[in-house]
Amino acid sequence: MKMKKDVIAMTEKLFERDSNLKTCEATVLECEQAPQGFAVVLDRTILFPEGGGQLSDTGTINGAAVRHVRETKEKIIHECAGEFPVGSKVTVQVNWQDRLDHMQQHCGEHILSYAFFKLFGANNVGFHMNERFVTIDLDKEVTLGEAYQAEDFANKQVWENLPVTVSYLPHTEVEHLPMRKKNEKLTGILRVVAVKDGDICTCCGTHPTSTGVVGLIKVTRIEKHKTGTRVEFLCGRWALEDARKKMRYIQEAGNMLSTKEERVCESIERLEGEIAELKEKLRAAVAQLQENEIQKLLQEAPVNSAGNKILVSVKDSYEPKSAKTLFGKLSDVPNAVVAVIYRSGERVNYMFGLGPGAAGDSKAIIAKANEIFGGKGGGKKESAQGGAPYAADWKEKAEKLIAIMKNA
Ligand SMILES: [Zn+2]
Repeated sequence: MKMKKDVIAMTEKLFERDSNLKTCEATVLECEQAPQGFAVVLDRTILFPEGGGQLSDTGTINGAAVRHVRETKEKIIHECAGEFPVGSKVTVQVNWQDRLDHMQQHCGEHILSYAFFKLFGANNVGFHMNERFVTIDLDKEVTLGEAYQAEDFANKQVWENLPVTVSYLPHTEVEHLPMRKKNEKLTGILRVVAVKDGDICTCCGTHPTSTGVVGLIKVTRIEKHKTGTRVEFLCGRWALEDARKKMRYIQEAGNMLSTKEERVCESIERLEGEIAELKEKLRAAVAQLQENEIQKLLQEAPVNSAGNKILVSVKDSYEPKSAKTLFGKLSDVPNAVVAVIYRSGERVNYMFGLGPGAAGDSKAIIAKANEIFGGKGGGKKESAQGGAPYAADWKEKAEKLIAIMKNA
C-alpha cells in the first residue's frame, strides 16, 4: 500500500496508532448535507478511510450508520446517516468484523508479497481488493508450483505468529532499511510497517499486531498478466468462507454424479465420453433416417408439367442443421424441384432449390411461400430460403404451397 501524506491533519487518525481500537469519543468539526445523508468530519476517528487498496471501514457515529469513509488532503469524511451539531461530542464505533476481514487480507498481502519477493525476486506492482476478491500483480511470471511455495512460506510466517510493528521514521533512516519496495519520492516522517524476520514497507493501512491474526493465506488462482502474473488469494475468514463454498460445490457435484468427491472429475470425463458416443450414434441415425426418407420421396415423387420430380419434406420440430443436410442431399437429385419446410421453436423455416438439370425458379416459389406464410426470405433461381413466425395452421399452409409446386 502506498503512503499518503497529510497536508493538514484536521482529523487525528487513531487507527494508525492502534488498529485494535473498537470505539472512541470525538468532537464534530463539520456536518454537511450530502447526497446520501451527511458528510461528518471529526477531530479524531478510529474509522479507516478507503485508500491505497484497502477498503473503507464501516461503523457508526452515535448509533447512526457510517457506510463509507474517505480522505481528502486535509480531512477524513464520514458518510453518515445521522446529523450532529458542530461541537457536539459523539461516540464512534467500528464494524469490527469488516475491519478484521480487511486487516486479514491486507496483512496477508504484505506477507505473501514478501514471500514472492524473497523466493523468486518478484515484485508486487499492483494490489486490488474488493468484497471477497483480492489480487496482487507480480512483475515476473511465476508457475502455480512457485505460487504454492510462496503460499507455504507465507503461511509459515502466519503460524509463527510474528510481531507486526508500526514505526514512524525519517526517510533518511528508512533508506537504510531492507525495504521490499524503495520509494525515493517519499520524504519526511514515514510510517513503516514491519513483520519480524519478514516484510518491511511503508504503508498507511491498518494491520494486526501479529501475523497469527491473518489465520490462513490461500492462493485461489494465478493468471498471466501483462509481463507478469496476477495472483488471486484470500486470507482469514474470507479464505474459510471460500473453502466452505467450494466444499459445498464439490459435494453437490459428487451427489449429482453419485460418486466420491475425489472421483468427480473422473466421472465427468466418463460422462463426456458417453455423450460424445451418443452424439455420434444420433448423427448416424439421423443420416440413416434421412437416407430412407430420400428413397421414399424419390419413389413417391410426383412429376410436374415441366418433367421435374417434386421432392418436398415437411418436418415438425427439426434442427436447422439437420434441415440443411437434408436439403443438400435432395438438391443433388437430378431434375428435382426441392422444398424443405420445417418448424424450429417459434419459427417455420423453408428452403427451396433445384437439382441438376431441373427447370424452375426458386425465387418465384419463395415469393409464394412468403405470401402464404406471411414470412420473409429470398435467394436465387437455383436456391432460396426464408422463414415466418410459427402459426398453428402452418402445415395446411405448407400443403397449399406444395399443391402450387406440383401444378407449376
Ligand atoms: Zn499495509
